[in-house]
Amino acid sequence: AFDVQTATAWITASEAVVKANEARLTGLDAAIGDGDHGANMARGLAAALANIAEKEPATPGDVLVAAGRGIVAKTGGASGPLYGTAFRRAGKALGDATEATAEQVGDALEAALTAIKELGGAAEGDKTMVDGLAPAVAAFRQAVADGGDLASASVAAADAAEAGLAATVPLQARKGRASYLGARSVGHEDPGAASLALILRALAEVTA
Ligand code: ADP
Ligand code: MG
Ligand code: MG
Repeated sequence: AFDVQTATAWITASEAVVKANEARLTGLDAAIGDGDHGANMARGLAAALANIAEKEPATPGDVLVAAGRGIVAKTGGASGPLYGTAFRRAGKALGDATEATAEQVGDALEAALTAIKELGGAAEGDKTMVDGLAPAVAAFRQAVADGGDLASASVAAADAAEAGLAATVPLQARKGRASYLGARSVGHEDPGAASLALILRALAEVTA
């Protein structure tokens, strides 16, 4: 089940994998943005961990809310408010459950997707993190509907997020800084979809 320990392990693993991929994320953002996505994400997730340690949350939902508040407080750019709000809304969707089920985690991922779409106004195909998260939520839900557990649904979500990332390459950006490049945004992975794929792979690893 998705409990405080698992939720905390997810954010811990996310911070580690983003830190290990900071240069790659920055390189992707240098190609079609302003070259700060790696630094933004590393700072945001470090702030998420610090806020979790300070708040000592009692439920997995509160872990994700603390993570989101840490990110919002310390991260600029487009990605800070988007990821911060996504984690907060995911946490609120879990309510006061101490051991969230796979179905509840699916609801939380869906709440994160809805929050990002509302705040950023991006739809699928606009070459943003939505192109990673939307197929991931669908794959997670399908896996649960097919009788899968949290671990297998998380693997399905991570696989779908990685496929969604690859599918951003031929797209022209319609939201965020990359959209200023017009047709020159074609031919590159979207940085936010790349960080999203890393974070969902981290979820698959901590729930395995
Ligand atoms: P900034 O563009 O402000 O420097 P980052 O570089 O940290 O912020 O994040 C860029 C990423 O944020 C993009 O690759 C994209 O995935 C995501 N993004 C930007 N704008 C939006 C939006 N309106 N909706 C969803 N995602 C967005
Ligand atoms: Mg940037
Ligand atoms: Mg920036």
